[in-house]
Amino acid sequence: MSDCIFCKIANGEIPSATLYEDEQFRVILDLGPASKGHALILPKAHYGNLYEIDEETAASAMKLARKMAIAMTKALGCSGFNVVQNNGTSAGQTVFHFHIHLIPRYDNDNVGLSWKPGELTDEARDEIVTEVKKQL
Ligand code: AMP
Ligand code: ZN
Repeated sequence: MSDCIFCKIANGEIPSATLYEDEQFRVILDLGPASKGHALILPKAHYGNLYEIDEETAASAMKLARKMAIAMTKALGCSGFNVVQNNGTSAGQTVFHFHIHLIPRYDNDNVGLSWKPGELTDEARDEIVTEVKKQL
């Protein structure tokens, strides 16, 4: 993807504050951090989102998220950690190269990662369970 900024960052064509790099991934600091240490896991190969990434790379990315969370928590002294991954504009995705947000959390940090709980009706529950199971 010649015009993808995360392809260029992941492959070192554009410099970034890199926390970790291996053959498959680069982990960089987010330029607009939600909290101190907010980082992004970028695969070096281009996948638009979770729908496009292959199972093995997705599994490796989650293993790396765990490794980074442990190291970053020790380094930064955070008291919690969010792992966030957005897919599609409606879900807040703004850069269309798969990435995982690593967001260290601190007591009373006011990072706004929450939603207003709705209600699960019996009808909705039954329909959702039936329809999703059909697709698996
Ligand atoms: P998302 O909204 O899930 O697509 O996340 C995109 C993230 O990428 C945002 O948190 C941005 O702050 C971050 N971002 C965008 N451009 C850059 C860049 N050049 N370097 C580092 N982070 C970036
Ligand atoms: Zn890309």
